[in-house]
Amino acid sequence: MFEDREKTHISELGEFGLIDHLTKKFESTKPETILGIGDDAAITASDFRHQVISTDMFVENIHFDMMYSPLVHIGYKCISSSISDICAMNATASQVLVSVALSSKYTLQAAEELYAGMHAACEKYGVDLIGGDTSSSVIGMCINVTAIGYANEETIVKRSGAKEGDLLCVSGDLGGAYMGLQILEREKQVFLENNEMKPDLEGKDYIVGRQLRPEARKDIIDLFNELEIRPTSMIDISDGLSSEIFHLCKHSEVGMKVYEEKLPIDQQTYDTAIEFNLAPTTCAMNGGEDYELLFTVPQSAYDKLKNSMDISIIGYCTAVHEGKELITKSGNVVSLEAQGWENFTTTTTKSDETQTED
Ligand code: ADP
Ligand code: MG
Repeated sequence: MFEDREKTHISELGEFGLIDHLTKKFESTKPETILGIGDDAAITASDFRHQVISTDMFVENIHFDMMYSPLVHIGYKCISSSISDICAMNATASQVLVSVALSSKYTLQAAEELYAGMHAACEKYGVDLIGGDTSSSVIGMCINVTAIGYANEETIVKRSGAKEGDLLCVSGDLGGAYMGLQILEREKQVFLENNEMKPDLEGKDYIVGRQLRPEARKDIIDLFNELEIRPTSMIDISDGLSSEIFHLCKHSEVGMKVYEEKLPIDQQTYDTAIEFNLAPTTCAMNGGEDYELLFTVPQSAYDKLKNSMDISIIGYCTAVHEGKELITKSGNVVSLEAQGWENFTTTTTKSDETQTED
């Protein structure tokens, strides 16, 4: 229909033409979806379960950079990071609504790529796209995703609920998305200085992928179900481990001790941090966007979790007055009260130096 998609301006299709064109590949499959795209509003229904809803905004040049983020990955990431919030409640995501504002610089091809990424994520996580809104914008792109999930009341997990003595656990590995971003930013600068330079991402595929195309840990929610584990508190790691520890502690009114040696750091993340003269621990503690799950479980769950390759027990909950502390590899105790990046960088770098001198 549109022969030259690269040159077709989105305004040529009109708002309705564009919505139809972009959403025609999406099919609703969930039993909770009663009515999807096309009417004034969508309809969902679920017998006795609770509905869990979250919304997220993604703004060009704040949350993503077109210089190095392919649109298909931006589409994927918007959906997967929104679903991550539903997972963090121990609920199953079922539907999403997506609103986009596109400036005139975007072609039909660009909009198609964005929606191809969203489609891939919807398929991967088994969610229906049931509506949204479409607008033009003066500059840049803005995307809003609302995710809806369902869960039985008694299985929902909040940030509150951690108890003294509970184990603190994290899925996957940390700091990768942050190091991926450092690589992409570095290559962007190289390119800006010399347009002939091709980005050098060799050997950095894992961390660049962690930044550009993160996954929601739905598999961990499925594992909890299978192992019959209900975490006492949970949060997804979007702003960095240290920051999420603060949230869990605040809502649960506990303190936490975290062991540096237990932090899961991938080899590529570790090596790249060293290359950038950063302490790998700092990247794991403060780098954001890993979208892993941070949760607490009663000690009785230890036997069920100890053999899970993808879950690390990194510490435990203490009384609230004991504060939030990182026990370094050399046995130093670093307070996490100084939450800021710089403060923390200084402290860890110092203790790391002490370690090398030893
Ligand atoms: P209204 O004027 O009532 O807001 P719209 O013309 O904006 O209706 O939307 C028509 C239908 O298309 C609705 O079902 C709406 O949810 C859906 N829709 C609009 N924009 C998008 C989008 N970007 N992605 C998915 N669905 C959309
Ligand atoms: Mg509308």
